[in-house]
Amino acid sequence: MNEFELIERYFRRPPQADWCLLGVGDDAAVIRPPHGEELVICSDTLVAGRHFPEATAPADIGWKALAVNLSDLAAMGARPLGCLLNLSLPEADESFVEGFASGFFSLAAKHGVELVGGDTTRGPLCISVTVFGAAKASRLMRRDAARPGDIIAVEGRLGGAALALRQGDQASSSVRDCLNRPRPLIEAGLLLAGTAHAAIDVSDGLAADLNHILVASGVGARLELPQLPLHPEVVAQDLELARQLALAGGDDYALCVTLDADDWEELDRHPGLSLRRIGEITESPGLVAVDETGAEGPLEPAGFRHF
Ligand code: ADP
Ligand code: MG
Repeated sequence: MNEFELIERYFRRPPQADWCLLGVGDDAAVIRPPHGEELVICSDTLVAGRHFPEATAPADIGWKALAVNLSDLAAMGARPLGCLLNLSLPEADESFVEGFASGFFSLAAKHGVELVGGDTTRGPLCISVTVFGAAKASRLMRRDAARPGDIIAVEGRLGGAALALRQGDQASSSVRDCLNRPRPLIEAGLLLAGTAHAAIDVSDGLAADLNHILVASGVGARLELPQLPLHPEVVAQDLELARQLALAGGDDYALCVTLDADDWEELDRHPGLSLRRIGEITESPGLVAVDETGAEGPLEPAGFRHF
């Protein structure tokens, strides 16, 4: 099967959305930008052996390639519209592509995301997805918008994916799901948008990602370690390990947001959210952690780094 047959068979679907005037099949897709909203766009690449173990099931790779991108849109407070898929494959392996497409489209269907184009080439296994969505400018959650006195809250659970990586074959299906089938928190992002100030999705470990907000906003933070929302199986680990997994593990795709204390009360009660308050934004820069004894100390924002 050549690349054109692969595209035709597995990736060409008639576009359903009214904003998509032309999808897969021409030299380029044609999109009508949403009226009164901004286009929000981002891209993420997954490299075999780096972002997922080589033995990962094709359907899981397809799901995750889209999930990590949708998670970025969630952190902006955008509603997803469509995506582009760039695939580099060692060979035209139909069973891989079939599995990949099934995982990819099952997540796309959950969020009404249209695949409008892409590219398919031969090379080391590598998947790059670009997603775009829409949001009103006033509702965007930017990294530079945290203010001293803001409450820091997390939606989602931390450490599960890192525990799965650590446990390998011994990992439970629950933590393996965290690693292979992350759920992008799109609905939560939309509920938080317009109220939360700054937001980021936790992909490289909470400490590192929160630090991106702190640096962009020119503020600091005081983090209450006992309040970290840990995955239940992470809670069962030794305390030191549990905190390491939650703070520096990565692949969580939780949302970390900052918001006014007044707004916190209201969002805390919202039935569509299960926010955990984990600390507050401070005027003095740097990340300070407080443990269960009340002892305070600086926290290194180490997370996953490629270079
Ligand atoms: P071109 O040579 O003009 O770049 P291609 O042969 O690369 O065209 O692609 C043909 C069509 O198939 C284009 O519309 C492109 O967007 C789409 N396409 C290619 N690969 C993919 C893919 N992996 N997923 C979705 N659409 C794809
Ligand atoms: Mg091309």
